Amino acid sequence: MNDFTTRIIHAGIDRDPLTGASSIPVYHATTFHQKDPTDIGEYDYSRSGNPTRHALEKAIAELEGGVAGYAFSTGMAATSSVLLLFQPGDHIILSEDIYGGTFRVINTIFARWGLESSFVDTSNPENIIKAIKSNTRALFIESPSNPLLRITDLRSVLDIAKERKLISIIDATFTTPFLQRPLELGFDIVVHSATKFINGHCDVLAGLVVAKDRDIASRLKFVQNAFGAVLSAQDSWLVLRGLKTLGVRLKAQQETATDLARRFHENHDVSKVYYPGLVDHPGHEVHMAQSAGGGAILSLEFSSEELAEEVLRHLELPLLAVSLGGVETIVTYPVTMSHAAMPPAERALRGITGKLIRISVGLESADDIYADFCRALEKAKTKIAARCSHFYQI
Ligand SMILES: *Cc1c(COP(=O)(O)O)cnc(C)c1O
Repeated sequence: MNDFTTRIIHAGIDRDPLTGASSIPVYHATTFHQKDPTDIGEYDYSRSGNPTRHALEKAIAELEGGVAGYAFSTGMAATSSVLLLFQPGDHIILSEDIYGGTFRVINTIFARWGLESSFVDTSNPENIIKAIKSNTRALFIESPSNPLLRITDLRSVLDIAKERKLISIIDATFTTPFLQRPLELGFDIVVHSATKFINGHCDVLAGLVVAKDRDIASRLKFVQNAFGAVLSAQDSWLVLRGLKTLGVRLKAQQETATDLARRFHENHDVSKVYYPGLVDHPGHEVHMAQSAGGGAILSLEFSSEELAEEVLRHLELPLLAVSLGGVETIVTYPVTMSHAAMPPAERALRGITGKLIRISVGLESADDIYADFCRALEKAKTKIAARCSHFYQI
């Protein structure tokens, strides 16, 4: 089974061992009868272990090439549980344009708890080396980043982590194991918001973590059970079902994204296209050497904030919403949505302006998506022109 799409279909427990059913049942039970009081079986209480959740955990561990996987109630529960591996007084270095929720939890709850952190532009590994202190324990990377799709060279990060004996962690929500398998490159821990591409249907919140070695895996298992932010059996089953089509979904979404990125690149109303699959995207070659494609997320910059806002008001096909990775195209306005919690000065520093929109490309046809954008652009320009002529008449 060399083809990854095949592996996705059969990963983990692909049929019920008891009955041969084509999917593992949803074990709603919270507790499990023990035959012998001195010999506790594999399952005793569903927070510690649940057969449906276990099937998902086994599947993601296999797909990532790790020793064990753990499923959490959300992506943030997964990230926070990983951060609980550390101690107050430890220091961690993160990519500066990391997911907003990670930025928030680090700067509030974990800062109060005593975890020190530095946010640096990890697209230049020198910045990581400069930020290392005597108490630095880990690197937490995201590549491509959000919403500007900045690329970090994962192999350079790993060289630094190995040399300084730091735990390497990556949030691979944007790529999924279909495009990028960081543990195979040498990362210690991979984190996913399975809410996004892995489940893929915008109907489940979930997080997944996979560890490369036994020691980290057993510490993660302890946190999962002790902290208790586990994924429910029902949601585990839904994610397992979504996961089966990850390969075909992401392949098609990536093809459409590539097509759209090229068309927007040629469109004179779009001043800039951010897409790692475009040859002139900064870090394109590095990205293609560590991923099986540019992915299904792209961002566009318009000539003005007014134009960006009017285009968003006139789009009809995509959802205008937060989140990404669904079968439907989702357009996000970072300044009021995904990055609203970030102070405006921080946003400006990162180049996240009101001219920018992010597109998570769904399974609609490229022609239909592009036509909807062109129509919205024409309407937006007409509206703005009318506003201007009114202004000049006064
Ligand atoms: C959405 C997201 C998260 C958080 O996941 P939730 O399931 O919403 O808690 C973390 N990282 C990235 C990159 C995300 O896009």
